Amino acid sequence: FAGGTAEFLKGVVAMSGLPDADRVEVCFAGRSNVGKSSLINALTGRKGLARASNTPGRTQEINFFTVGEAHYLVDLPGYGFANAPLDVVKKWQALLKQYLSGRQTLRRAFVLIDARHGVKTVDEEILSLLDSSAVTFQVVLTKADKVKEKDREKVLAQVRSALSKHPAAFPEIVLTSSEKGDGIDTLRAIIATLE
Ligand code: GDP
Repeated sequence: FAGGTAEFLKGVVAMSGLPDADRVEVCFAGRSNVGKSSLINALTGRKGLARASNTPGRTQEINFFTVGEAHYLVDLPGYGFANAPLDVVKKWQALLKQYLSGRQTLRRAFVLIDARHGVKTVDEEILSLLDSSAVTFQVVLTKADKVKEKDREKVLAQVRSALSKHPAAFPEIVLTSSEKGDGIDTLRAIIATLE
């Protein structure tokens, strides 16, 4: 994974558009503005890569990136736009549900949570969906550089407590800063161990 070149493959709006399930796949979810694009860019070492998925019109698509020959990295649409039209939200939920429960090669979901805020109500829906889809998920705290060292334990405790209610949660929490590069190697190594 670490040495592979990352490329944007396609944006998917329906299950029929999914690429062949022929390699290890991991997906990234998080509320809008949590730092998902920045993290994907940092992970792949390609600054502009995930910008495509943040442009209007692309935001409700499931965006596939290839990393080398053996991995798909999947950018799920950001959630938590309070003013998104209901039909858009419904369509997104339906596609997401189908994808999460039907993708054989999906090995893990990384749920991004802002390290300053911890798990919020807005995150609970996706966590429950991952539980019911039996997709193991791992929390990645973003923007760790914005939280003082002494306050980190408090956030971690809050997240651990929130995760205790979710059977699909993987216990290890990864603290990252795309800005400073913290935790990026750790996350890459985690993905590389998935088969
Ligand atoms: P997305 O909507 O989840 O894709 O979020 P973006 O990656 O576009 O980031 C949202 C905002 O948070 C931008 O202004 C980023 O510069 C900022 N941001 C992202 N990651 C970090 C980080 O690790 N540290 C800091 N301080 N800011 C970050």
